[in-house]
Amino acid sequence: MSETKKPWFKELHWQIAIGMLLGVAAGIFLQSIGQPAGVISIVELGGDMFLRLLKMIVIPLVAASLFLGVTGVGSSKDLSLLGTRTFIYYLFTSLISITVGLVFVNIISPGTKVDIQLDGLTGKAVEAPSSFIDILVRMIPVNPFGSLSAVPFDMLAVIFFVIILGVFALKVTEEQRKPLVDLASSLNAIMIKMVHGILMLAPIGVFCLVTELVAEAGVQVFISLSWYLLTVGLALAFHFFVILPAIYYYFRKENPFEFMRQMSPALLTAFSSASSAATLSLTMECSQKNKKVSPKISSIVLPLGATINMDGTALYEGVAVLFIAQFMGMDITLFQQFLVLLTALLASVGAAGIPHAGLVTMVLILNTLGLPDDSAGLILAVDRVVDMARTATNVWSDSIGAALVETFSSKRKV
Ligand code: ASP
Repeated sequence: MSETKKPWFKELHWQIAIGMLLGVAAGIFLQSIGQPAGVISIVELGGDMFLRLLKMIVIPLVAASLFLGVTGVGSSKDLSLLGTRTFIYYLFTSLISITVGLVFVNIISPGTKVDIQLDGLTGKAVEAPSSFIDILVRMIPVNPFGSLSAVPFDMLAVIFFVIILGVFALKVTEEQRKPLVDLASSLNAIMIKMVHGILMLAPIGVFCLVTELVAEAGVQVFISLSWYLLTVGLALAFHFFVILPAIYYYFRKENPFEFMRQMSPALLTAFSSASSAATLSLTMECSQKNKKVSPKISSIVLPLGATINMDGTALYEGVAVLFIAQFMGMDITLFQQFLVLLTALLASVGAAGIPHAGLVTMVLILNTLGLPDDSAGLILAVDRVVDMARTATNVWSDSIGAALVETFSSKRKV
């Protein structure tokens, strides 16, 4: 016993779980005594403040992390070739994973299993979707600084601008680019600290959100939530154990489960830490040591992956938003599902590799679709469990990406 382990009750995920359970108990109690308006409005305030804190950090966090991801590709020809391969793999697997999620959520329909009336949550209607062309046009911000501060979020515009900014930052000299990269890297580090700080409040925030939810809706919510957990779990497992290994086998003609075993220290660390960024050094070590991915490739592909390649997160976000929409009895058209696919892809690219980052960007997709923010309370309550599974999926996809880029590069001598 050389390491000093924190007692379990000091671990954040246990604290959140306790906050949640206490919230259920408090909610049942409040419901049984007739939902006293005064108490309900206090917990509502607590939950609202917590959600506002989460939303407060979205834009700077996404902007800084995305800019670093894009500029991190480097500027030489070699790097941009690697970057292109890496991007194609990332884009391809992320799109597949969201599609898997959307198929599962449409088939299982977890949000329709329980019919609950949530007065506080159904106030706002979904905005009528504009045409696809209109969305594309509005993705280009007339005033990028305006979209950085727009309320509600103008996320597509922010992401579009930051990607363009990153691409053109690679075209100027290192000296000209450096101040902005330094700024982004400093902002990113500070924002990550801020996420940690805000997450310390998560047990209280989750307590308030769950109390309000259960007081208004009763424990049936959790029957619905268990369907949600089942849907995300099955979809993630399908992507993790079937789709990704199949892609690996197709391109490498090697046993994917042997590779999974070799990567298991990284995958298990990802699972228990819920952070791709924290796992990164282990991911690099396992892939270099066991699979002979060269340091040159793993040092580009894996950090980039930990920043922008989030198959699990993308899948979860699509499922979560559709679950909420179903739960609230909204009809989501095929066009809106396509919008979810697009936003989930971009939001997963923008999510940092830290615990609950996907939760932050999920609030943002709700905003994009015009769904009420407070409906996020439904998912927040069980986010830790989902986070562990989606982070392991994220790291598994990064690892396969590194192995495949290695294969392509060694074939073509780059
Ligand atoms: N925790 C995830 C990761 O580090 C991101 C997320 O919250 O979805 O990969």
